[in-house]
Amino acid sequence: PAAAAAATEEPIQPAVEIKYIQLLINGNFVDAASGKTFPTMDPRTGEVIARVAEGDSEDIDRAVAAARRAFDEGPWPRMTAYVRTPSTAPHIGTAHAGGSRSRHGHRGLVSLQERCRVLLRFADLIEQHADEIAALETWDNGKTLAQSARAEVPMLARCMRYYAGWADKIHGLVVPADGAHHAQVLHEPVGVAGQIIPWNFPLLMFAWKVGPALACGNTVVLKTAEQTPLSALYVASLLHEAGLPDGVLNVVSGFGPTAGAALCSHMGVDKLAFTGSTGTGQIVLELAARSNLKPVTLELGGKSPFIVMDDADVDQAVELAHHAVFFNQGQCCCAGSRTFVHERVYDEFVEKSKARAMKRVVGDPFRNGVEQGPQIDEEQFKKILRYVQSGVDSGATLLAGGDRAGNRGFYIQPTDDMKIAREEIFGPVQTILKFSGVEEVIRRANASQYGLAAGVFTRSLDAANTLSRALRVGTVWVNCYDVFDAGIPFGGYKMSGVGREKGVYALRNYLQTKAVVTPIRDAAW
Ligand code: NAD
Repeated sequence: PAAAAAATEEPIQPAVEIKYIQLLINGNFVDAASGKTFPTMDPRTGEVIARVAEGDSEDIDRAVAAARRAFDEGPWPRMTAYVRTPSTAPHIGTAHAGGSRSRHGHRGLVSLQERCRVLLRFADLIEQHADEIAALETWDNGKTLAQSARAEVPMLARCMRYYAGWADKIHGLVVPADGAHHAQVLHEPVGVAGQIIPWNFPLLMFAWKVGPALACGNTVVLKTAEQTPLSALYVASLLHEAGLPDGVLNVVSGFGPTAGAALCSHMGVDKLAFTGSTGTGQIVLELAARSNLKPVTLELGGKSPFIVMDDADVDQAVELAHHAVFFNQGQCCCAGSRTFVHERVYDEFVEKSKARAMKRVVGDPFRNGVEQGPQIDEEQFKKILRYVQSGVDSGATLLAGGDRAGNRGFYIQPTDDMKIAREEIFGPVQTILKFSGVEEVIRRANASQYGLAAGVFTRSLDAANTLSRALRVGTVWVNCYDVFDAGIPFGGYKMSGVGREKGVYALRNYLQTKAVVTPIRDAAW
């Protein structure tokens, strides 16, 4: 009842103006070549927030051409490692072939430190505009304002600073080759990176994709999710204010099968990075293979286990397991959506989880104290309720929730059930399963096509060590969950993905390795 009331109140008007609704190509906001637009919705009401330019293959062509030019001729990929004072700094155009004056007059960008400085200035601007960015994210996505303001905007800034720090520390090595040869290995930017992001964490996905790509000197064409185009356009404008040369980052809003597929198939794109569903990841990989064999990194779906051992403090375990699955309305690729609980604490855990789920405050994400906003759109909303029904049909016990909350928008009651679920639900639905031993839970936790993440809750160091090593997943959180510092690598085993994002590992995705071999003459020494 509390949930229903909260969700039927008048929506709070967000304190932000929508400034950017066009495509960002070559440093300018422009209409789609077709002139088409599409609506982006407020998930609280299903009403239109704004109509946004709808990019398709022609716009992808324009964006890739701009990124190509910025890569082939612009300063960004070829900033030298030398630090020169402005008075002695040669213009890029004289120091190197090509080079163009950006609309911000950064013709003097000559050092890698400048690449670093642009990213640092960007992080400062993110903090200066934090309130507006957070409001925009909550409006377009439905996540709580507290989460946008306290987690996602700070994490975006943190990620940019982390990668800013790498910009002048990427270097190759010298190999001791047999014979009189000097062998160097150079690490060079890959070129034009195509990046496709989903709607569940628009700002964070922007950070994880754009941060390492730019730090390594690449240029980018980013396609945002059709459900959430607004925040990326806003922060991309700040990145230009911070001094990013034109054409280095281009942002195309639009749909997957049109703009997204055109980017994947483009012969002028040198590398692809995708986050989204496993099915779409397979399409992306195929399009990349059939065009120019561009390398692809994929961050896909999951069905992550959260394992509660019998020595656990049950109250703490309930709270953490609750957070692991319900965070972000359950719309997390790494949601701990299979809660495995040891039989000795199972009954107590189920009772307390049910009570916690029923206490969860669902409502307008702009309202203080609300823990859960609406789902992203009607399609996801209906899909989640279908999953809950199929659970009930196949014999699951519905413990809490299971229905919509309120009478408009896409709010769902927090739901607990007892069903062995295999597919990614991507909603606020917790499935609680009983186990009796470590070997059994390892086998069952690993019996999944996915391998993105896992949670382990125990006081036993031995259990923690055994489970951490036995689970076939990219991240194990022990006595914590959803810790996403920019330096910690993230990605999946099995069908949860290919490659890693964040940390030093993400740099590998955006660098080519070049061997340069020269003979050493007169090698008397
Ligand atoms: P999706 O994978 O279809 O969309 C993600 C991105 O891919 C969007 O930008 C979309 O426009 C683009 N895309 C879609 N089709 C494409 C194509 N043919 N070629 C190139 N790009 C394409 O995900 P969705 O439809 O928004 O959500 C469906 C399900 O995906 C969800 O229920 C959830 O299970 C999963 N999902 C996972 C994540 C994650 O972080 N792992 C994120 C969002 C959705």
